[in-house]
Amino acid sequence: MTSKKDLNRDKRELLDGVVSGNIPFHKLDNMTDKKAAVKIRRYSLEESYGFDFDHIQNFSIDVEEAGKKNIENMVGVIQVPLGIAGPLKVNGEHAEGIFKLPLATTEGALVASVNRGCSVITRAGGANVRIFRDLMTRAPVFKLENVVSAKEFSDWLQDLAVISRIKAKASETTRFGELVDLQTYVTGNTVHVRFLYDTKDAMGMNMVTIATDAILTLIEDEFGAVPVSISGNMCIDKKPAAINSILGRGKTVIADVTIPADIVEERLKCKPDTMVEVNYRKNLLGSVRAVSLGYNAHAANVIAAMYIACGQDPAHVVEGSSAISTMELTRYGDLYCSVTLPAMAVGTVGGGTNLGTQHDCLRLLGVSGSGDPPGSNSKKLAEIIASAVLAGEISLVGAQAAGHLAKAHAELGR
Ligand code: NAP
Repeated sequence: MTSKKDLNRDKRELLDGVVSGNIPFHKLDNMTDKKAAVKIRRYSLEESYGFDFDHIQNFSIDVEEAGKKNIENMVGVIQVPLGIAGPLKVNGEHAEGIFKLPLATTEGALVASVNRGCSVITRAGGANVRIFRDLMTRAPVFKLENVVSAKEFSDWLQDLAVISRIKAKASETTRFGELVDLQTYVTGNTVHVRFLYDTKDAMGMNMVTIATDAILTLIEDEFGAVPVSISGNMCIDKKPAAINSILGRGKTVIADVTIPADIVEERLKCKPDTMVEVNYRKNLLGSVRAVSLGYNAHAANVIAAMYIACGQDPAHVVEGSSAISTMELTRYGDLYCSVTLPAMAVGTVGGGTNLGTQHDCLRLLGVSGSGDPPGSNSKKLAEIIASAVLAGEISLVGAQAAGHLAKAHAELGR
């Protein structure tokens, strides 16, 4: 057991207080410095459970920074291995050039698989990628008396003068965020209002929640409608939902590439038509039959690994996983592949992007912090991640078309 000799008398007393249950974990931050609080909480667990934490104690990230808005009751850090796939050539509007992709994962074979997809795409001239929509949503829910007042409320929210006052109210809460649109959905006497914001380089969930909170005050003051909840789940955050797949949430991003048949055969060891067949019967028909919202092979794998590496909110893998992969033969027998990601929630400021290790990965991609103009960095990150998803889809579908999947996992994952 650690001797805890590095604690002075005052801190030792705090430790005793925590172990005895007299001091709750969350109170420690106000009783000593943040670094010591982390250590005392960890030591108290070691004393209570009778073994040392040899690994979670080792980290370099700034405890002060993390404690401000990333974590409560911190005791240490979980380490996830970080690998690099690429180079990947990306032909985007914001991401233009060659990128090395940081992937944080414990799934053997994932980095190797994405790496293979990157090499195919890069040899084929790079991934074309475009962002079609970029709006983060927050949708409070209101209870009205009946359908008559629900209709009056819904009509009031369409009044241009009202919308203009609502936009002005939202803008008081943020320098970068901007309310762009609002949509109402009525169910009996219940009204959900879906507010849509441009959040520039922020993923934006905190930003839009704060702005929407200010709007709720205006609505209550001017119309008298009382909100039941600031989030009525039509936003809809971190839950699989058709509305996000259809209307988009965060960034709607599409990447594609046409791979010459000889590159498919040489690199993926299969024929383009076999990949088209696998994609059709697996990603499309199989997903339809399973009533999935995701029509892809493993978009979530790549999104999760890049989100964890780059300080994104990993729970947003839910929205990211509803990707659609298509594969077609061109008239020349080459392979056209695309991925459509309707709801990618990413940012290069806020959230976990400031933590040291995550910041390193964003710097590797050339997207850390605020972009010039604002919004360009988060768009660049989205284009890179969409291209990485395309690489993952091509590699996995190629492996299944060539019958290589089980072999790769046996060699690399076990
Ligand atoms: P945030 O850190 O809360 O806000 C972003 C901050 O960056 C804002 O203060 C913004 O200033 C500032 N900023 C500086 N340069 C900017 C630029 N170029 N573009 C945009 N903003 C810029 O981050 P967030 O993205 O809004 O929220 C992300 C966090 O929300 C994550 O930690 C996530 O886990 C969490 N989350 C919250 C909820 C929720 O309901 N609250 C739900 C899901 C996730 P201004 O505000 O002055 O513009």
